[in-house]
Amino acid sequence: MSDIKSEILGDAVRNVIIIGSGPTGYTAALYTARANLKPLLIAGSADKKTARIKGGQLMATSDIENFPGAIETGVDLDNWAYLDEAGQAAAIQDVKGLSGPHLMTKMELQARHFGTEMLEEFVTEVDICADPGGVYTVRTESGREFKTLSLIVASGAAAKTMGIEAEDKFFGQGGGVSTCATCDGHSYRGKTVAVVGGGDSAMEEASYLANLGIKVHLIHRRDEWRASKIMVERVKKNPSIEIHTFRAIVDLKGKPHPLAATSAFFKDKEVLAGAILENTQTKEREELALDGVFVAIGHTPNSGLFKDQLKMDEAGYLERDGHMRAIPSVNACNRKMHGMEHVPGVFVAGDVSDHTYRQAITAAGMGCMAAIEAERYIAEKLADAMGIDGNALDMSMESVAQSHWSSERDQMGEKPMIERVVEAASV
Ligand SMILES: Cc1cc2nc3c(=O)[nH]c(=O)nc-3n(C[C@H](O)[C@H](O)[C@H](O)COP(=O)(O)OP(=O)(O)OC[C@H]3O[C@@H](n4cnc5c(N)ncnc54)[C@H](O)[C@@H]3O)c2cc1C
Repeated sequence: MSDIKSEILGDAVRNVIIIGSGPTGYTAALYTARANLKPLLIAGSADKKTARIKGGQLMATSDIENFPGAIETGVDLDNWAYLDEAGQAAAIQDVKGLSGPHLMTKMELQARHFGTEMLEEFVTEVDICADPGGVYTVRTESGREFKTLSLIVASGAAAKTMGIEAEDKFFGQGGGVSTCATCDGHSYRGKTVAVVGGGDSAMEEASYLANLGIKVHLIHRRDEWRASKIMVERVKKNPSIEIHTFRAIVDLKGKPHPLAATSAFFKDKEVLAGAILENTQTKEREELALDGVFVAIGHTPNSGLFKDQLKMDEAGYLERDGHMRAIPSVNACNRKMHGMEHVPGVFVAGDVSDHTYRQAITAAGMGCMAAIEAERYIAEKLADAMGIDGNALDMSMESVAQSHWSSERDQMGEKPMIERVVEAASV
């Protein structure tokens, strides 16, 4: 067997390693597992504050209302069409989004059901430069080392936090501190919250929350804004938003959780009651009663592993082409990479490469695209090694993608691309 063929069909070198277990990573794992690539997903472990945790950022949120189909409903869906108008209206009213942890557990189970192997560790080193387009090396915190022909970088982004000790106590799951107004804002209707930040996202979050009928205190360290003038003007005109410039939150205050008296789980838990604000000029302090704090001071992509290997923008978001392929860094440690338009076999997807949309559904979509691209990359390598003409086999992206439709597999006997290559070679 040629080297590449034995690598792809054997176990010593992986076909694909996926870094990260958010919606991007699990979707990429599901697709590459169904493509018989035997993916290894390195999930991360638990660094909750930065959301670098198995399951990713959604582990910190209670109800996800905008991931299509991820709902709970008491309705027997087979009987849906037979319900009368009132029955349907009641069922629609009853729909509830899944919690972040539930959605991510379902994604994990689905990926593993099809054969994804998982490792709950952080990746500490990736070596792309040694052999671009060949075999990549991935090392983890326990010192394990893996070789792989392709890599899907799905390491996401971590919301920046204020860096105060009390933040951890109230972060996520209804505690009172959140980094996402569109996700968690609805639970604060009729209440009072603070939004921290001076950029466009802080302005957007403040306006969004105010429009939900929430009283908003906008807390900003300076009196100059990074946000665009028009956004600042909109916030200034909104009667539900009170602006506090030259202020920073230095501590948070809690009160017993509303379920503390009735539930053993919540017995010692607290929810947010207020914040201590410090005047950044005079250092004077004051207490502000609050039900929630939304921290909107930006996100940091988890891309540090790829410094001087892959191209990233100033904020550290990895760049990619239309086929989700990573672009080499201009400082890439291997000169060979300087002439490459993309790094063969390295795909980037999800929040680590997206500072615009940052939604679970867009991340999952990108994970799917990266996986199908990786599948085609591996199949082409295998076809080359086996001397098969790709044209004869129709290795077009459309063909690879369509072979993922369940109906094609069940009814038409369509097979994953690498199986088709092996079969063609044996004819
Ligand atoms: C509080 C909050 C609530 C949100 N609510 C919603 C919502 O309701 N709806 C919605 O659509 N979007 C929501 N979002 C946005 C959504 O969570 C993200 O867009 C989505 O999770 C991005 O998915 P991802 O897989 O690209 O990255 P992430 O979810 O960030 O996952 C990245 C993964 O990579 C892992 N990782 C990082 N570094 C390493 C490493 N070195 N080694 C191994 N693993 C590593 C992490 O542990 C994590 O598992 C919310 C975000 C936050 C912060």
